[in-house]
Amino acid sequence: MSATIDDLRAEVRGAVVTPGDDGYDEARAVYNAMHDRRPAAVVRYADAADVIAAVRYARDHSLDLAVRAGGHSVPGFGTCDDGIVVDLSPMRNVRVDPMNKTARVGGGAVWGDLDHAAHPFGLATTGGIISTTGVTGLTLGGGIGYLTRGFGLSIDNVLSADVVTATGEQLTASDYQHEDLFWALRGGGGNFGVVTSLEFQLHEVDTIVGGPIFFELEDAATVMEFYREFIATAPEQLGLFFAFQIAPPLPFIPEARHGDTLCALVCCWNGPVDEADAVLKPVRDVAPIVAEFVGPMPYPALNSAFDALVPKGLQHYWKADFVAELTDDAIAAHVEHGSKVPVVNSTMHIYPINGAAHRVGADETAFGHREMNFAAVIAGMWPDPADNAATIAWVRDYYSAIHPFSGSDGGYINFMSDDDDKRVEANYGRNYARLARVKAAYDPGNLFHLNQNIVPAK
Ligand SMILES: Cc1cc2nc3c(=O)[nH]c(=O)nc-3n(C[C@H](O)[C@H](O)[C@H](O)COP(=O)(O)OP(=O)(O)OC[C@H]3O[C@@H](n4cnc5c(N)ncnc54)[C@H](O)[C@@H]3O)c2cc1C
Repeated sequence: MSATIDDLRAEVRGAVVTPGDDGYDEARAVYNAMHDRRPAAVVRYADAADVIAAVRYARDHSLDLAVRAGGHSVPGFGTCDDGIVVDLSPMRNVRVDPMNKTARVGGGAVWGDLDHAAHPFGLATTGGIISTTGVTGLTLGGGIGYLTRGFGLSIDNVLSADVVTATGEQLTASDYQHEDLFWALRGGGGNFGVVTSLEFQLHEVDTIVGGPIFFELEDAATVMEFYREFIATAPEQLGLFFAFQIAPPLPFIPEARHGDTLCALVCCWNGPVDEADAVLKPVRDVAPIVAEFVGPMPYPALNSAFDALVPKGLQHYWKADFVAELTDDAIAAHVEHGSKVPVVNSTMHIYPINGAAHRVGADETAFGHREMNFAAVIAGMWPDPADNAATIAWVRDYYSAIHPFSGSDGGYINFMSDDDDKRVEANYGRNYARLARVKAAYDPGNLFHLNQNIVPAK
């Protein structure tokens, strides 16, 4: 193997890190510490030619191929044993075109990179709520965040993608070229190739009014009932998600409440700053407020506000559902299990996916369930591996209790764990058969299988 890896090294401009090399342990580590894998080589990409070389090498040697951008995959898809990892993290460049309000984003950029580059122009697009998550990994699965109600999912803002396919060719997919591939990339995850850059439509997003409002746990049912009604018709410039959250030791939370389990509504108002108080009044009036940290701030400040709760190296086990309607029975199950959230890093979030995300047709992109109103995720995230069994049991019990009320067999693929492989068809719903046909056209040998895998149609 070492001689052939040397052949790969000779072809690649970026670093090829192999066992025994300095930095191997750092290069193989992914965000979820539960995945302690030892790849044959981590190719730290310098340009698309490196990706082409790595893809051909993995294919020609029948090796597993893992693709990594931000590294946040909960199932650890960004690493593997004995195979090749294409690590795009060196390619974090972002070029903003303020005239056309677009950005071209390198395949390894994280949301903090895009926020940073676009904010001076008063621009942004829908991204995740943690700034260290990869733009590409998050976008390929759909992309849910503060701006979803106003501007749709992240995929709804993708204009084109450069992709290295299983044959080792680079294609550009858009509404005008390789339209089938472009359709599949927008929701189909990493199944179709290595995306070396994405072009996004940006929108006017500058100073927002945002942050968390914490309520007592005993008011959780009231807050959830309010949330389901309010978010159905609230102005689309308002992003608002519900959370169960142990109070972190932050100055705006009374010290006596640090460590208490609370519930929260986290808001992002992207309308006129002087209208925020009126828009948020019903939120503030729903129940007595324990603590709040809501105010005008640059959008990138909100989008990185919770990063410290989820540093690299925690253990992760998640379960998720799309939700048609937040029923009273579901709320009762949430209150029972959400109140047992085990540590400050763990949480349960309910994100709205209505508004602009509903105006995109169910088959316009590969995203499975446009008819759903919410995406719920039980995110077990904890520092101590000794707590693995207990925290995984909390996630599973919680999920078993809420799933019967979700109104869907499917969930958001980016919130799935590695034991959710049986749910892939349900997660894509009506779009699965078409995805399998596009997979057969671009990756008939299933080279890109370390993902929520779509099996090529026969
Ligand atoms: C702390 C945390 C917060 C999150 N918050 C949100 C959120 O607010 N909204 C949301 O929608 N999701 C969120 N997610 C889920 C997130 O969307 C997925 O974990 C996503 O896969 C992460 O992408 P990544 O690039 O960081 O991860 P990686 O592990 O690098 O990539 C995950 C997979 O995506 C594919 N992929 C990544 N890059 C490429 C590429 N360049 N070309 C081809 N395939 C690629 C590969 O299959 C890869 O294995 C969050 C996850 C975490 C851990």
